Amino acid sequence: MYIDSHCHINFPELAARMPEILGKMAENEVSHALCVSVDLPNFPSVLELAERHPNIYASVGVHPDYEDTPEPSVDDLICLSDRPKIVAIGETGLDYYRLEGDLEWQRERFRTHIRASRATGKPLIIHTRAASEDTIRIMREEGAGTNAGGAAGVMHCFTESLDVAKAAMEMGFYISFSGIVTFKSAKDLQAVAREVPLELMLIETDSPYLAPVPHRGKVNEPALVKHVAEYLATLKGMPVEQIAQQTTDNFFNLFKIAR
Ligand SMILES: [Zn+2]
Ligand SMILES: [Zn+2]
Repeated sequence: MYIDSHCHINFPELAARMPEILGKMAENEVSHALCVSVDLPNFPSVLELAERHPNIYASVGVHPDYEDTPEPSVDDLICLSDRPKIVAIGETGLDYYRLEGDLEWQRERFRTHIRASRATGKPLIIHTRAASEDTIRIMREEGAGTNAGGAAGVMHCFTESLDVAKAAMEMGFYISFSGIVTFKSAKDLQAVAREVPLELMLIETDSPYLAPVPHRGKVNEPALVKHVAEYLATLKGMPVEQIAQQTTDNFFNLFKIAR
């Protein structure tokens, strides 16, 4: 069994093919998927998918790339997350790659999510791109992570250095690898994945983006998470069943889902 810990199947290109998406998950032994919220206007579609399908879970949050969108308050996030199928706060974080200029609003929004996670005990889903220093600093300042009395979380679609991975793991965070790790050019990231202990690893698609090899460039979907697991198995010299089992256990532990 495999679990896609991060996807956007409510996006139109996937939502329109939902029966097929779910069928392919079943065919490929992808038992569950977490549909991650990126803004408040589309949160109802994320929630609806999770409430309609027993094997789909969801989060609530506003992505750092969404500039002109309603800003959530800590209370908004607490209220919206108060449902059994909403298992996480995010995705949140910092992205200095996509946007330029004064990004203080991104940092404030990130702090809001960390506070909501601490208040609800629901884990954080963190996106960080070209901003790892500020990301780790703000996580520390706001007391993200289990060693500061907060909830755990995941650094999703991880593409940073081993030092950043270690800093996050020390705070009780998991590291999630997407199809990027299968790309030929991703040598540095592959070296990081070799070092991250399987006990702190998750796998994801971030679909519809970032399809893993051998589907690179096509529309991604949760069923393809299997290729990420297969790649990591080769990289770490482990049977794929072990990667599947441990990342599945990690998912249920992190998001506190009873089996
Ligand atoms: Zn992301
Ligand atoms: Zn995402």
